Amino acid sequence: MKISELFYSIQGEGKRSGFPSFFVRTNFCNLRCKFESGNLCDTPYTSWEPEDPSNAGEISVEDIIAGYRQHELCDVVITGGEPAMQADELYDLCFGIKKINEDINITIETNGTMVSDFVYYLDLVSISPKLGSSTPFGTEHEKMHTQNRINIDVLKDYHRMQDEGIIDLQWKFVINTEKDMDEILELKNKIGFSDKDIYLMPEGITEEELKIRRPMVAELCKKYKVKYSDRLHILIWGNKRGV
Ligand code: SF4
Repeated sequence: MKISELFYSIQGEGKRSGFPSFFVRTNFCNLRCKFESGNLCDTPYTSWEPEDPSNAGEISVEDIIAGYRQHELCDVVITGGEPAMQADELYDLCFGIKKINEDINITIETNGTMVSDFVYYLDLVSISPKLGSSTPFGTEHEKMHTQNRINIDVLKDYHRMQDEGIIDLQWKFVINTEKDMDEILELKNKIGFSDKDIYLMPEGITEEELKIRRPMVAELCKKYKVKYSDRLHILIWGNKRGV
């Protein structure tokens, strides 16, 4: 698989926050987020400037599983970049992990633009549809990002699979300003997901930036009765790789 990094840490976002987890961060993304704050994607080394040093190139599924075995039975979080771009390898990876023990909790963190058979081995799909406030205006990627960022059919598919009991889902939205909520409500009406599965998370890659948006996001959560998610790993370790 094309891997950016493998590391053992604590899940910092959403409903599995706090769980010790082995992270598989895939390389490459089909979007190029640039938020209204001016921040790029929090992992630009998997999207804007994918790198390929010795620790970020091809790693076989077998070697990833061997890495996981050092921390065996903790959660597995497959993140990116956009992991669903490597659907076949992802299927093999999830299958291999479940073969160790089917109770191992596997989460995929995806932008929700692609889906494939790997979902059958997942416990939680953490979908983070990218809102208009993620558009890289004035860059060479603006058009591609705008065309790709929301795929209604794929989002409906994930929602259907939750209804059928195949997967658990959380909808995690990065909030820049209050007006992001209008777009979330519009999406909710189109797809039909429920408030109980919505998590709002302040945009920011430093503790200082998160601190500025936290009260606004908390007020939105109170108003719309949806859940708040922080970014624990930034609180604990700051904006570093491998945490
Ligand atoms: S979808 Fe995620 S990984 Fe891709 S550019 Fe946006 S924030 Fe980065």
